[in-house]
Amino acid sequence: MTSNAPQSFDSIIVGAGFAGLYQLIRLRRAGFSARVIEAADDVGGTWYWNRYPGARCDIESLQYQYAFDPDLAKEWRWTERYATQPEILRYIQFVADRYDLRRDIQFSARVTAAHYDEAAARWTVRTDRGDVYTCRYLVMATGCLSVPKTPEVPGIETFEGESYHTGAWPHEGVDFTGKRVAVIGTGSSAIQSIPIIARQAAHLTVFQRTPNFSVPAQNYFLDEEQWRAAAERIAELRAEARTTSAGITGLPLNDVSALAVSEEERRREYERRWAMGGFAIGGAFNDIAINPDANETAAEFVRQKIREIVQDPETAEALCPRDYPFGTKRLCVDIAYYETFNRPNVTLVSIRDNPIAAITPKGVRLENGDEYEFDTIVYATGFDAMTGALLRIDIRGRGGLTLREKWEHGPRTCLGIQVAGFPNMFTITGPGSPSVLSNMLVSIEQHVDWVTDCLEYLRERDLATIEPSLEAEDAWVNHVNEVANLTLYPRANSWYIGANVPGKPRVFMPYIGGVGAYAQKCAEVAANGYEGFILQ
Ligand code: FAD
Repeated sequence: MTSNAPQSFDSIIVGAGFAGLYQLIRLRRAGFSARVIEAADDVGGTWYWNRYPGARCDIESLQYQYAFDPDLAKEWRWTERYATQPEILRYIQFVADRYDLRRDIQFSARVTAAHYDEAAARWTVRTDRGDVYTCRYLVMATGCLSVPKTPEVPGIETFEGESYHTGAWPHEGVDFTGKRVAVIGTGSSAIQSIPIIARQAAHLTVFQRTPNFSVPAQNYFLDEEQWRAAAERIAELRAEARTTSAGITGLPLNDVSALAVSEEERRREYERRWAMGGFAIGGAFNDIAINPDANETAAEFVRQKIREIVQDPETAEALCPRDYPFGTKRLCVDIAYYETFNRPNVTLVSIRDNPIAAITPKGVRLENGDEYEFDTIVYATGFDAMTGALLRIDIRGRGGLTLREKWEHGPRTCLGIQVAGFPNMFTITGPGSPSVLSNMLVSIEQHVDWVTDCLEYLRERDLATIEPSLEAEDAWVNHVNEVANLTLYPRANSWYIGANVPGKPRVFMPYIGGVGAYAQKCAEVAANGYEGFILQ
């Protein structure tokens, strides 16, 4: 039912993924009234939308889960080292049932506008169904990777076959049996789905602009003991994760320069970590992320692996990343990705020097005139990351300033949580926080806890609003940039700097200083009466 009579709450939370659901739990427990508004027709966020074949977590499932309630961890039995999308979605649904969350969620409603009323110190929030809400606190749990990006090539709408974006996959699934399939893109979603699609399709053609570094997951089924050991120590492990750089425990950093050891020793360390699987390789040496020569040793190790796995030398070379440092685009974690190119029904087409000119009614045409015919096109072309979901909403703060104007040259936040001029609006894992560079569950819980504590602080002192001072925001933005520039990350044309979206300002968006240092800073700010923030 739609209604235009404004409904009033202490807080509105936008988004019912991991962040929005935990925020609802915390606000309820703190005695604030709250309403969640979600565009989808159920909970799950990322794991609701990304149902493409092979979708799974690349953080271990025992760490990619909530830790706020030790009983919850004991009630949910993860089955694999890296959980699949269906399993994660079932987990989120289980959480929604267990805490009876759906009764406070408005599904199938997209927030289109949020305007701040200075006189009333309240936000007015509108949806595409005509709902109007007012609230004191506005929590944007809209997700960092929730706006799928299709490539800007002409003719997409003219294609006569079926086409799908990995980030908005049909719930009923897609049957590729006997089909000529194109996958456009070779980022994480492509790397996860290609091996599965290849097993079904008559022929699979992969269009690659930029090759990515990918490492094997070395996935396995968890036995009862592995699961129980983690479930029983969840609080302790999460506390430890909060002190680490990426919010992940058990990823030992070898505190030695890659250039300080012999070639043989270096190789041994990389091999050891390749066998461990996942992100372990990133910690092989202490200067991979900062020293180009050290980085090149890791890059060359992975290229060598690609050459060993992929039988056709030309395909192997095309799959080798060369023009950006190892790890500076999100490292992909795969199950038999490179091996898939040994299949007779899989072709790699490099579009680096010969881009896609158009999608045609029959398939794909490249700039040199080559044409390919397909029954199905899969766009694995990523997301308008970090700022996309926020900037799609008409958000207006003090004096009618729009977030779009404020962020015209790139996002500006204090701690990635608040924006000067937008009182009482909070961004969970927003730009300027570790966010996508971390285990998101750790970052989400840390942000939601901080926000909830902050609202309780305001209530106890009878304060109406909080927002950062411009000086504190400027100082934080400068710090975020400075730290990023100490690393090799800004050298890559990655979605971390918005390079995948034409016209997007090129700013390194996440905070790379590490979850531990960041959480400590947030705690200090709060302990000092929200230093740098204006409370009134
Ligand atoms: P989301 O899960 O994105 O939820 C945001 C919700 O907000 C969505 O449901 C969306 O519909 C809704 N929404 C947005 N705008 C509006 C609006 N205007 N009105 C109403 N509703 C709106 N992270 C990791 O740490 N480890 C991983 O291994 C990992 N793997 C990933 C794999 C994929 C394929 C993707 C896409 C992301 C992955 N991530 C991973 C990141 C993942 O997004 C986070 O881990 C986490 O799920 C984010 O939760 P969230 O609640 O912040 O956002």
